[in-house]
Amino acid sequence: MKLLEGKNALITGASKGIGRAIALKYAEQGANVAFTYLSSVEKGEALVKELEAFGVKAKGFRSDASDFSAAEELINGVVSEFGSLNILVNNAGITQDTLLMRMSEEQWDKVINVNLKSCFNTVKAATRTLMKQKAGSIINISSVVGVRGNAGQANYSASKAGIIGFTKSVALELGSRGIRSNAVAPGFIETEMTEVLDEKTVQGWRDSIPMKRGGKPEEVADCCVFLGSDQSTYISGQVINVCGAMLT
Ligand code: NAD
Repeated sequence: MKLLEGKNALITGASKGIGRAIALKYAEQGANVAFTYLSSVEKGEALVKELEAFGVKAKGFRSDASDFSAAEELINGVVSEFGSLNILVNNAGITQDTLLMRMSEEQWDKVINVNLKSCFNTVKAATRTLMKQKAGSIINISSVVGVRGNAGQANYSASKAGIIGFTKSVALELGSRGIRSNAVAPGFIETEMTEVLDEKTVQGWRDSIPMKRGGKPEEVADCCVFLGSDQSTYISGQVINVCGAMLT
């Protein structure tokens, strides 16, 4: 049985890392996949081909997640192309790490806009469609550092904590319309985002994780398959940590 057969999904920031893994798992599970990418048209086109190989419909949209009016255009584009929107995964995210003393206003604003405002942008734009359908699953990618904070990531941690408050509020506001809203909080996942860290920092993370290893993007994607599927129809307003027991 394919868990997402016949569902239409939108995943932001899917050209690499966790977003790409979610897109591929969704297609494997029978979902039609719309996704956004920021810069590489070639990568976007290549991903469409990979997704279509699963026998589903796929389309990439070049769209900046932090842009409010672009989100409305994006959601309209997805709905007119696919006919409906059943699962919305807000995955696009960036880091601009530095200690608070050195953090510029620009670094603060950029990270908050790409990581947190982006969730507001797409959910706001999709709300009318989801309410009309009386169904939908919203999945926002937060982080364990949104729960516990992290030195050197005040901007990033604040954005990810904001996502949790936003996710829970959406669950409370839209639950009566059959719309679910959950956050996934990955721990240390080995992607390009974590590749930039030096070996000592990476080893420090691995040592601090009870399972003694970083996670794979596919392990986060599996959780998103579950939350997007009808296997989780009574789960809403929750934060699910995918972190090898880093948080308990
Ligand atoms: P990544 O850097 O590999 O991928 C990030 C994706 O977001 C890319 O596809 C990029 O193009 C896209 N993106 C960035 N800015 C964008 C914008 N303005 N508009 C549209 N797309 C944009 O990182 P990743 O590790 O795959 O991270 C994916 C999500 O998971 C992020 O929200 C990140 O904060 C979160 N996360 C990652 C980890 C980790 O350890 N890797 C841990 C916790 C949470």
